[in-house]
Amino acid sequence: MQPHELSFSRAPSLQVVTQVAPGAAEQPRSYYIWTIGCQMNRADSERLASALEQLGYRPVAAPGAADVIVLNSCVVRQSAEDKVSGMLGLVKPLKQRRPDRVIALMGCMVGPRPEQLQQRFPFVDLFMQPQEYRPLLDLLGDRLGIDWEGCLGSLLPSQPSVTTLVPIIHGCDRMCSFCIIPYRRGRERSRPLEELVHEAHMLAQRGVREITLLGQIVDRYGHDLPGQRDLADLLAALDALEGLARTRFLTSHPADMSERIIRAVAHLDKVCEHINIPVQAGDDDVLQAMRRGYSRDDYLRLIERVRRAVLGVALSTDVIVGFCGETEAQFQRTLELLAEVRFDKVHVAPYSTRPGTIASRKLEDSVPWEEKRRRVKAVEELQERIATEINASLLGTAQEVLVDGREKGKWKGRTRTDKLVFFEDGGHDYLGQLVQVRIMKTSPWSLQGTRVDRAGTQAEATGL
Ligand code: SF4
Repeated sequence: MQPHELSFSRAPSLQVVTQVAPGAAEQPRSYYIWTIGCQMNRADSERLASALEQLGYRPVAAPGAADVIVLNSCVVRQSAEDKVSGMLGLVKPLKQRRPDRVIALMGCMVGPRPEQLQQRFPFVDLFMQPQEYRPLLDLLGDRLGIDWEGCLGSLLPSQPSVTTLVPIIHGCDRMCSFCIIPYRRGRERSRPLEELVHEAHMLAQRGVREITLLGQIVDRYGHDLPGQRDLADLLAALDALEGLARTRFLTSHPADMSERIIRAVAHLDKVCEHINIPVQAGDDDVLQAMRRGYSRDDYLRLIERVRRAVLGVALSTDVIVGFCGETEAQFQRTLELLAEVRFDKVHVAPYSTRPGTIASRKLEDSVPWEEKRRRVKAVEELQERIATEINASLLGTAQEVLVDGREKGKWKGRTRTDKLVFFEDGGHDYLGQLVQVRIMKTSPWSLQGTRVDRAGTQAEATGL
């Protein structure tokens, strides 16, 4: 998948300690995790945060206040890598001011041989590949004089949010020519189905209502497990879990989405009717240069199958513009495809060379930067028009919304089709509830409405 770039830092209010290592009470310790990149990184950070809290560390809101600073990095695009470098520049003086402070760089910036990084950033104590928490826990265990493995229970967050991410398969065996991820996250490894069901059960007991199953190619879940279990089997097992209201999965690959998975979305009650299927480009020659493993027609046929099987399904996609040698005519083919499919959401990014990838070695990054930016803008403008029309068609309808928080005095949540919805407060606590909202106002990015009861009557008026 082409991860969507995001960054966040661990907010203190999100974490509570469940099990604290001996000695924690006498000596307050603190950590700060900064995360950028895809949802896999976000899930990794949540699990590391859980481990640190079980060792007695508390989250703080700023790196300057932390004993341990972790930067969970992404290098999928140059812009993400630049932000990581910027953060490293910010933490360097913090280390100089307090040499006992631990600085760790984690995630996709760290390859199997970090010597070059060690030379560039000598103030960083630890370089850890994705999900590689052990070096940090070893170091902290030594400092605390404890066997950390004996202190840690499950790495699940003790107070997870209503919607939570669960990685189910790590790594990627495809080698898209532009992508650095297989070099950093390694070969595919599926987690055992029973372990995932148990984890989901624990999360549901802690108040989680929606789980998003994650993988670079989530549809390939299970191919390396005994018994030929797949994503459809996992979704079916989760459908039976009490307390859990919804499941989603991210990210699919057009060549790996099976009929069984499509049927699971169509028939299982809890699986949301929303699928992200990255197309990346609409021209066959560009797709071939990208080594994506499908043609434009294959992709369109898949979309047709999904739409025929899953009533009202919302589709999103990822697009890279300005890939090596992409001509104007080839770019227009991408625009035509986007206009034909009419996705609910499109994540678009300009191509940037990633050292070490096939494209960086064999192809010329020939499209000028200004032209790439123009193409990004053209995609964004087209998509804004399409999303405006799709969302406007929901005006006046009642939508089921899973409430996941509050913003600017309103409750917010998402529909099964992943539309962001805001509705008026009404003085009640709706967190974690499924509510019906009548849509009163739409924009390309979100919907606004009023809560109604199941019969469609305005809820406040009936006192519900
Ligand atoms: S190699 Fe291709 S399929 Fe694998 S993570 Fe990268 S973009 Fe996704």
